[in-house]
Amino acid sequence: AFDVLIVGGGPAASAAAVYAARKGIDTGIAVERMGGQVNDTLSIENYISVLETDGPKFSAALEAQVRHYGVEIMSQQRAVELIPATEPGGLVSVRMENGGTLKSRSVIVSTGARWRNVNVPGEQEYKNKGVAYCPHCDGPLFKGKRVAVIGGGNSGVEAAIDLAGIVEHVTLIEFADQLKADAVLVAKLGSLPNVTVRTNAQTTEITGDGNKVNGLSYKDRASGAEHTVALEGVFVQIGLVPNTEWLKGTVELSRFGEIVVDAKGQTNVPGVFAAGDCTTVPYKQIVIAAGDGAKAALSAFDYLIRTPEV
Ligand code: FAD
Repeated sequence: AFDVLIVGGGPAASAAAVYAARKGIDTGIAVERMGGQVNDTLSIENYISVLETDGPKFSAALEAQVRHYGVEIMSQQRAVELIPATEPGGLVSVRMENGGTLKSRSVIVSTGARWRNVNVPGEQEYKNKGVAYCPHCDGPLFKGKRVAVIGGGNSGVEAAIDLAGIVEHVTLIEFADQLKADAVLVAKLGSLPNVTVRTNAQTTEITGDGNKVNGLSYKDRASGAEHTVALEGVFVQIGLVPNTEWLKGTVELSRFGEIVVDAKGQTNVPGVFAAGDCTTVPYKQIVIAAGDGAKAALSAFDYLIRTPEV
């Protein structure tokens, strides 16, 4: 059995692994695919001390550092169930899709999240070529250009407010007949001169010239009329889904499916910690996930030295 078993392999898991292994305790990683979301990231410009890097480079560097400390990486392992210890200080089990079960005195869950897709023609084709999901990450790439934000909930309206300060013009597209964001955000949005809001609007296609995005089509759900907007970027903001379906009923989750953690990354299950995009910690970013991973590992270590082994 491990002292610390980390489920996941993104920035949160990698930081947790480095911090745990440096304590000289038996550390393992079980992961579907090392690197996590950064694998799909073209350019990273906001990881402190690194002026610019790209996803594949960043993810290779994560893995190299984890391996440097002798952490056992078990790849292509999808966790499907967590079984809490039956007595205080006992072993926590994680059941894998392939039938195997891993046991550990403590577990750090860092299975991340995935952006919900709008599933219209052009979205997959133009991902990273104008179609984006993270305004903090990719907003500056559209400086002085025209963009649309799909989604009029809190994240969509926040994104539109954020982007309006950087880009030339923002069109906010909302499917329902009114914005669902908090009133204070909607009021702020309404005060901005370079934002147009389209409600009752169903996105039907993201168009491009073969290399990059050049427009968005939507249907006015009241009249049925089709409209097109010429633009250079589309931010899809219709939800971030945590990869926590496998924990339902075992670990406490928020109504958004995020693992509820305290300030030390502790979940409601003894010996089980969580870090990164899969948790209730706000602002889903690499630097935050990495910091949380380090914190969860230190908390796991603290738990191990205070909990008698059984
Ligand atoms: P993730 O990176 O999501 O990693 C989760 C890991 O868990 C993966 O390795 C996955 O394979 C594994 N996993 C999932 N489920 C299971 C399971 N059941 N069993 C085993 N393993 C599992 N942030 C920035 O700070 N700057 C940027 O420029 C930036 N750009 C981005 C661009 C894109 C296109 C995307 C999608 C995100 C971007 N982000 C950026 C956000 C950033 O990537 C995330 O905040 C960060 O990766 C979260 O790290 P994490 O370790 O919590 O989770």
